[in-house]
Amino acid sequence: MPLDIIVGIKWVPNTTAVNIDPKTGTLIREGIPSVVNPHDLTAVEMALKLKDKYGGSVTAISMAPPSALAGLEHVIGMGVDRGILASDRAFAGADTLATSYVLAKVIEKIGRFDLVIMGHETIDSSTAHIGAQVASWLNLPYVYYVVDAVLEDDGNTLEVTRILENAYEKYRIRLPAVISIAMHTFNPRRVRLSEKLRAKMEKPIEIWSIKDLEIDPNCAGLRGSPTVVSGIDFVPKVPRKNEVFQGSDPKEAARWLLSKLIEEGLLDL
Ligand SMILES: Cc1cc2nc3c(=O)[nH]c(=O)nc-3n(C[C@H](O)[C@H](O)[C@H](O)COP(=O)(O)OP(=O)(O)OC[C@H]3O[C@@H](n4cnc5c(N)ncnc54)[C@H](O)[C@@H]3O)c2cc1C
Repeated sequence: MPLDIIVGIKWVPNTTAVNIDPKTGTLIREGIPSVVNPHDLTAVEMALKLKDKYGGSVTAISMAPPSALAGLEHVIGMGVDRGILASDRAFAGADTLATSYVLAKVIEKIGRFDLVIMGHETIDSSTAHIGAQVASWLNLPYVYYVVDAVLEDDGNTLEVTRILENAYEKYRIRLPAVISIAMHTFNPRRVRLSEKLRAKMEKPIEIWSIKDLEIDPNCAGLRGSPTVVSGIDFVPKVPRKNEVFQGSDPKEAARWLLSKLIEEGLLDL
């Protein structure tokens, strides 16, 4: 019973390399390299694992400027079958509502699918809204913090396990459905250069515009975004302590470090 899976991936500035402008309180994005949102690589890995087990296909979708083609090529290099980029100037300035609306329209246009998988959240905006909103636009069941999924024998029921603070919960959901994967659930597989090159030759990434998706411009981008960020008042200041171990014995240094971490409440043994 093959599964046709769609995965949402976002092309984000690598925030480990981002600084905050102390005057404006906004991210300094200039010159920052972009990457596929790391939690979306976890979602891609989950989709590929399900495809390895049950057969079917994996399609990656993204709403982003054309530079995100590199992100879709990356996941195709991991084994994704098809890449679709929703890209149009009219999509710029979207809040989560307008973003999820465009993604839902992309999924509707794809037509045939069993499961949509999203990452837990993004590293640049971290709202964790998109999965729930896409499910809501499409009127589909939604489960989040998922760590495992097993297809039942009937071929259209998925048993999903979600992680809570001190427990696991199991749900049986009818397909099609939307799930978000808990962070760090899987290590993403490596990109194979041969796959990336084959993709360039045989399965170029499709780019869909607002017209292709038949979206009313009032529902996309800034015009379709009711959220207004009115300002950021402060940049949090992180106090730093600087203590240096005086000595040369590595065992003594380790003991000293451990005692400091416990003292600061960072380790609880
Ligand atoms: C008023 C306002 C204006 C904004 N203007 C801009 C702007 O001009 N430019 C800009 O870059 N951002 C802008 N944003 C941020 C924008 O809302 C988010 O980038 C976007 O809606 C996704 O939200 P998120 O990153 O929190 O995703 P989350 O909800 O944290 O993501 C969950 C999962 O959804 C999927 N997903 C999320 N986004 C995408 C996507 N684009 N394509 C495919 N899958 C996705 C991924 O699987 C991801 O792991 C704006 C936000 C607001 C409130």
